[in-house]
Amino acid sequence: MKVLRLPREIHEARDSLRKTSDVVGLVPTMGYLHEGHVSLLEAARQRCDTVVMSLFVNPAQFRPGEDLDGYPRDEKRDFAIAEEAGVDIVYAPSAEEVYPAGFATTVEVKGLTEVLCGSRDGRRPEHFAGVTTIVAKLLNAVDPDFAFFGQKDAQQATVIGRMAEDLDFRTRIVILPTVRERDGLAMSSRNAYLSAPAREKASAIWSALLETENAYPERGLDEALRAGVRRLEAAGIEPEYFEARYPGTLDPAEDETGEAILVAVAAKVDGTRLIDNILIEPDKQVRRK
Ligand code: AMP
Repeated sequence: MKVLRLPREIHEARDSLRKTSDVVGLVPTMGYLHEGHVSLLEAARQRCDTVVMSLFVNPAQFRPGEDLDGYPRDEKRDFAIAEEAGVDIVYAPSAEEVYPAGFATTVEVKGLTEVLCGSRDGRRPEHFAGVTTIVAKLLNAVDPDFAFFGQKDAQQATVIGRMAEDLDFRTRIVILPTVRERDGLAMSSRNAYLSAPAREKASAIWSALLETENAYPERGLDEALRAGVRRLEAAGIEPEYFEARYPGTLDPAEDETGEAILVAVAAKVDGTRLIDNILIEPDKQVRRK
């Protein structure tokens, strides 16, 4: 496994892969790898000749006062996990290389980034511009045939899909299911922040999403959402949002239209902000009617 640190190095590597007509897959990560990341790496390994994993804690997607400095990092461990998962190239540039003096470009997707995690008051309006800018840079630098992202960050997946389409990236964006702990908590590098009691409490997030899924469509969408929120509140968790939207447009979902519905939640559990979601497929809605 090669570790490359400079955009120039990744360009050179890409040029030589073009000569061998390898199918190249990219898995962008911020490191501190867990089984969720590994599932993306394994999917890439299956579909591609060469797997590139980027490892970069992207300052542009953190707001002042967020956990940029404290974000868990363990490069050595990440390299070992990546190698074990069959990664061929790790691209791990420094912030100075990615954002040199004079850097002045932002890639911003409108609309989709103004709801859920991107809406006003206390949420993260600049966050997605940071994400789309770095993903655009990575797609340009690596020029992969496929790039793999997790459904765990459902809004991010939708935003990146939109950006790739709008900017004529040739890379196919592949979204893979959320990997969970045994009690349902979505795996996340940020779970490392949770104390034992907070960790236990955090499992209510997935229970709340299941509660909503079980209540829908019989009890109607509003009541199904309220049931989910009640489940969270019973565990002492106050959601930032707990909303039903259509996965492609992120428009608010309406009751029983037969379309897939994304129920997405963000909540702080003892100071750690966690997000999760569930996709309620029309099949399920029909089956239960
Ligand atoms: P991160 O390192 O948190 O920026 O995540 C890198 C990629 O892994 C993103 O595409 C995430 O959506 C994905 N990811 C994070 N957690 C999970 C999970 N539990 N299951 C599947 N994919 C995940």
